[in-house]
Amino acid sequence: MSLEALERRVRQELEFLNYPARNWVPPRQRDGVRVLDVLIVGGGQAGLAACFGLRRERIDNIEVLDAKPAGLEGPWIDFARMVTLRTPKTVTGPDLGLPSLAPRAWFEARHGAEAWNALNKIDRRDWQDYLGWYRRVLGLPVVNGVRVTEIRPDGDLLVAVLDTGERRWARRIVLATGLEGGGRWQIPAIVSQNVPADRYAHTAQAIDFAALAGKRIGVLGGGASAFDNAATALEAGAASVDLFVRRPELPRINPYRWMENVGYLGHFADLPDPLRWRMTRRIFDMNQPPPQDTLWRCQHFANFALHTGSPWTGLGIVGDAVAARTPKGEFAFDFLIIGTGFTVDLSLRPELAALAPDIATWADRFDPPAGEGHAALGQFPYLAPDCSFTAKQPGTHPHLAHIHDFTFATMPSMGLTGGSISGLKYGVRRLVGGIAKSLFTEDAETHCASLMAYEELELLHLDGPPP
Ligand SMILES: Cc1cc2nc3c(=O)[nH]c(=O)nc-3n(C[C@H](O)[C@H](O)[C@H](O)COP(=O)(O)OP(=O)(O)OC[C@H]3O[C@@H](n4cnc5c(N)ncnc54)[C@H](O)[C@@H]3O)c2cc1C
Repeated sequence: MSLEALERRVRQELEFLNYPARNWVPPRQRDGVRVLDVLIVGGGQAGLAACFGLRRERIDNIEVLDAKPAGLEGPWIDFARMVTLRTPKTVTGPDLGLPSLAPRAWFEARHGAEAWNALNKIDRRDWQDYLGWYRRVLGLPVVNGVRVTEIRPDGDLLVAVLDTGERRWARRIVLATGLEGGGRWQIPAIVSQNVPADRYAHTAQAIDFAALAGKRIGVLGGGASAFDNAATALEAGAASVDLFVRRPELPRINPYRWMENVGYLGHFADLPDPLRWRMTRRIFDMNQPPPQDTLWRCQHFANFALHTGSPWTGLGIVGDAVAARTPKGEFAFDFLIIGTGFTVDLSLRPELAALAPDIATWADRFDPPAGEGHAALGQFPYLAPDCSFTAKQPGTHPHLAHIHDFTFATMPSMGLTGGSISGLKYGVRRLVGGIAKSLFTEDAETHCASLMAYEELELLHLDGPPP
């Protein structure tokens, strides 16, 4: 089937399922401007899927804003340096159950069924192409090149301030701002305090790899992105790449593969707090190994060295080199690549900074049993069942219940939702159901009045059929 034929099928399936078809959210105005029912911040896979999910529930008055240019949302083309996705190729999610929107349907229409059978995992560039196609075929209302810089309450509405100077009033806001959307990419203090900024880059930054040819590169971090960047530097002709991991051994078990089951993805959020805490803590402690092919991509080079049990205990400029001390020896580099992931702390997000002091975290709500403490986990927001923020002081700041987190920061409360492809299938369902419920119940009096005034005749003729 060609892509054109697939697109026709998408439209037909949507038509087949278009019941009930009527929009039902009463329109609102502010200063003569239509208030959005939902503003989605972030037009990556999570923002797009949330938008499609809301539209299927006939919540149509939505806008999606993304700071990046069209086609560059998320990491896939921008700074992801792996060859393929890490997730099995059979993953579904953005399709929300529509077979013709599934990644496989797009792939087979684009590259053929044989190519699918021969495929190991989906190429990251194909994933971005798929997301671009998904957005286009569904006609999702995304505006690119616009950053939300601040969110604040305004009566019973929310107002989002944009970097263009404009504002958007909305009844609900969904934060689909990515892996780092609950905080920021993390650079350890030992690096930022001891090394000039032009001698290192985080894996999430733009890096001129051609300029690293012939250079000695030190990479910090044991996650997949650290290895992807090491491999990219090696392929660009780096003289040597040394990768340093704090753990005595690389993790070899991937809890994310365990998490790929309907029970966890669909119902983790329904567990009691002690279990949600214990399971998330276990997942964080296990961490994820780099994919096998990513490790081999590095090991293919004789000038690659992996140093386990080797945190950087000292770092500084010596002569023209960056000198790193580890428990196992000293090293000299021309450039560092920092693959230490991200940290969750809502106060670090400009758009949330004003609200963060009032948002409850897990540390505010849950006292872990002895031996189960975890400082980083305590910083994650403690979310309501519809992914919305809760107030540090219960009963205050009602606007927080209208801001829905759909990033990796949902982990201890919801399990995976946004921030991972596997989380979308059930995460969008939970988010959309929650928003539909809260909009309907907030407007209950209006809906009741509408029913009381309803007088559209269905039975038109009482005197037998017309001749
Ligand atoms: C290198 C890498 C590889 C990954 N590989 C996989 C994988 O194989 N499988 C998997 O399941 N997951 C993977 N992930 C995790 C996850 O799936 C991705 O991070 C994915 O992009 C998350 O989708 P998202 O829509 O939540 O966020 P993103 O795709 O990051 O999109 C968020 C968007 O929000 C925008 N934004 C942020 N703040 C604002 C603001 N204030 N105003 C306007 N716009 C804003 C950004 O510009 C961005 O485009 C990977 C992550 C990374 C970083």
